[in-house]
Amino acid sequence: MSTSVRCSDAGLSYRRGLLLVEGVPAGDLVRRFGTPLYVYSGNSLRDRFRRLERAFSARRPLVCYAVKANPNRAVCGLLSRAGAGADVVSGGELFRALRAGFAPGKTVFSGVGKTEPEMRLALRSRILALHVESAEEMEVLASVARRLRRPAPVTVRVNPGVLADTHEHIATGHPGAKFGVPPEEALALLKKASRSPWLRPRGLHAHVGSQIAHTAPYRASLKVLLGLAERARRSGIPLEYLDIGGGMGIEYGAEGSLAPEDLAAAVLPALRESPLRLLLEPGRWLVGPGGVLLTTVLYRKRTSARRFVVVDAGMNDLMRPAFYGARHDILPARATRKPRVEVDVVGPVCETSDFLAKGRRLPWPERGEVLAVLQAGAYGFSMSSQYNSRPRAAEVLVTGSRAALCRRRESAADLVACER
Ligand SMILES: *Cc1c(COP(=O)(O)O)cnc(C)c1O
Repeated sequence: MSTSVRCSDAGLSYRRGLLLVEGVPAGDLVRRFGTPLYVYSGNSLRDRFRRLERAFSARRPLVCYAVKANPNRAVCGLLSRAGAGADVVSGGELFRALRAGFAPGKTVFSGVGKTEPEMRLALRSRILALHVESAEEMEVLASVARRLRRPAPVTVRVNPGVLADTHEHIATGHPGAKFGVPPEEALALLKKASRSPWLRPRGLHAHVGSQIAHTAPYRASLKVLLGLAERARRSGIPLEYLDIGGGMGIEYGAEGSLAPEDLAAAVLPALRESPLRLLLEPGRWLVGPGGVLLTTVLYRKRTSARRFVVVDAGMNDLMRPAFYGARHDILPARATRKPRVEVDVVGPVCETSDFLAKGRRLPWPERGEVLAVLQAGAYGFSMSSQYNSRPRAAEVLVTGSRAALCRRRESAADLVACER
């Protein structure tokens, strides 16, 4: 797919040679808010949520946004107002999700290491279900529920034994991954939950990985879930929902994406006979394309082997290239006819792995020029750190011609604020 098609889906376009986020030139945003700067297109987030809902409308699914992709309150608030629920993986995310307006009854809580305080918060908040990932966790949950005198809604996360075709660090549904329990154990846990006065079995869950470009892993894991749900029903344990997770891929450079219409066509027929509610937990697919990271060129330099463009955003701001070897498209904020040359775009952090792009053909920029790193709305700011004592970037939400700061830039004082 061409960069121009990707742009329109992300709320980006060029007008008179200037890159715009919706109606606002990137250069204006930089003058107002500085760089490095995360900018999100409100219309991209909303449109993608609606498109996903439409694709699955035959089932009226509950779409639980995976908050870890981008937990900013403005992003979460926009999606919750559009009707999304939340998928959280920590007490901190649950706190953020509820504060941003997600309904507790549309919120699910996954993760292999939930603590007792996190379980208490979840039960007190009356969320839809806790997705338990081990027998020991379920025992602890039952005891927390007993002490609170409040039965816990539990869904069992299954590791269906599916190897999703993605980066090894983000494949989660194979027997070598720490997530979920094997199918046989899942049924045993549901039976055990049904016998406990403090546990209420609600559903089955599988999330087999991230940045998945094919429907096969979903079909394979849904087959496992449906088989287990049927066996549970025959054992007298009626469930309420099946959660097929998130993980739908988006286009990064040449990497393949997964269209929600294709996913729906692949899984809805298998669900036709099932009365269970369908849950989806997309993160990246909803918010990835609608975010850009704006960064300013500090210096250029050449060695005998390479040309480097040193920018003011580093791996602490956008970790994905260093962490996963991820490829993000990069566009100049001001279009140019200059010939393209092969460059490495690197940050100021003192690590050789601190790069945003390697061997990329870009117009050799001037100092002070602004570059836009695309597909940065998911796992961008949320994975950022203060490494090298770099204050974290600011975040802005653009809707139409309006730009609103939704997280201020951190200051030097913020770096030491928690130290005693
Ligand atoms: C991370 C995660 C998701 C979202 O994954 P994406 O690839 O961003 O869609 C969904 N469910 C669970 C349990 C997760 O851990």
